[in-house]
This record gives sequence, C-alpha cells and structure tokens, in this order.
Amino acid sequence: MFFVFCIFILPITVLVILLLSTRQKTDSESPPADPTEVCAFCQKDFPMNQLLEKEVGTYGRVYCFCRECIEKLYNEFKNQQTQKQENK
Ligand SMILES: [Zn+2]
Repeated sequence: MFFVFCIFILPITVLVILLLSTRQKTDSESPPADPTEVCAFCQKDFPMNQLLEKEVGTYGRVYCFCRECIEKLYNEFKNQQTQKQENK
C-alpha cells in the first residue's frame, strides 16, 4: 500500500514543483525594469548590481556570482588553507 502511495504521490509532487518553478520564472521575467541574473552557484535571481560578472574558461563564457556564494567560497578556501597548514 505504501509502495502504491509513493508511485502516485512522487510524480505529482515533482509535477507541482516544476509547475511552480516555471510560474515563478515567468513572473520574474514580466517586469523588465530591473535586469536580474541567476547566480551560477546557488541559481537564485539577483539584480545585476549585486552580482560579480566573471569570464570563465577559454570560451569566454560569463558567469555571475552573488556575494553570498563568493563569501562562502572564500571561507571554504580559507578553511582549506588553514587545514592544510595544520596537517603539515
Ligand atoms: Zn549565489
């Protein structure tokens, strides 16, 4: 019985989540006044002035990174460095 429940409920929840996410996307696209871009790391929408644009790789693809993700990366890097120093 639980198995049947899972088979029916799982696709429905996935569908609902997909529908909701597409609806949010069309909603955020409708006001063209403030240009927003998706952060390449957390996939959240941010206004362009809150993002850092960086050309990545040889193909010149431009990725946007939000302040939160940059700080997270910086802290991760710092922790990694201190861990390496402690191990030596
Ligand atoms: Zn981010």
